[in-house]
Amino acid sequence: MQKGKIGVSTDNIFPIIKKYLYSDHEIFLRELVSNAVDATQKLNTLARLGDFKGELGDTTIRIAVDEKKKTITISDRGVGMTAEEIDKYINQVAFSGANDFLEKYKKDANAIIGHFGLGFYSAFMVSKKVEIHTLSYKEGAQAVKWECDGSPEYSIEEIDKKERGTDIVLFIDDENKQFADKNEIERLLKKYCRFLPIPIAIGKKTK
Ligand code: ADP
Ligand code: MG
Repeated sequence: MQKGKIGVSTDNIFPIIKKYLYSDHEIFLRELVSNAVDATQKLNTLARLGDFKGELGDTTIRIAVDEKKKTITISDRGVGMTAEEIDKYINQVAFSGANDFLEKYKKDANAIIGHFGLGFYSAFMVSKKVEIHTLSYKEGAQAVKWECDGSPEYSIEEIDKKERGTDIVLFIDDENKQFADKNEIERLLKKYCRFLPIPIAIGKKTK
């Protein structure tokens, strides 16, 4: 297992995300689903170019809500990530001058998220812990799990995941528990995720 510190210039980005983006908490789903769509389309492109020769299989994006455990899992069968890619695209958050910027733009959460590519980190608006379970499409790739509890400390370790792609698991915090509800997630999908190029399925997880 490797441990490290997410590369943010402020001490802790997460309280800032929660505080300033308060009114728009529900957009986390749009951000995570759009990442799942991007990852799937990247794989489709690689397949078309002949750079991915495996079976694409069923690339439906699946969202599972566990109302008991208060978790939401967004699963795709896209490109996945290697440990190096997680380090580059998730850990090294370019966020210089975050406080100044947020102070200036605090009324427009969407502008901030778009500007900083904070899409993935919007998960922390509603979660006390986020896990990424992922297996890259690349040949011989090792599956990994990344975990972060909302402090800038994260951990990453090798796991046994057979299916290519990424599961993002959100452990919904108490203030946001209304989102750990299948009907609510369906409502958000209708509101933010219509007309997507990849099919999406939603299910209730009770195990
Ligand atoms: P953006 O989507 O604007 O690049 P995000 O913060 O939403 O910013 O995501 C950061 C990066 O993390 C993505 O560019 C991608 O490389 C990686 N990533 C996020 N989610 C996934 C996923 N489901 N599958 C593969 N890579 C992902
Ligand atoms: Mg994104």
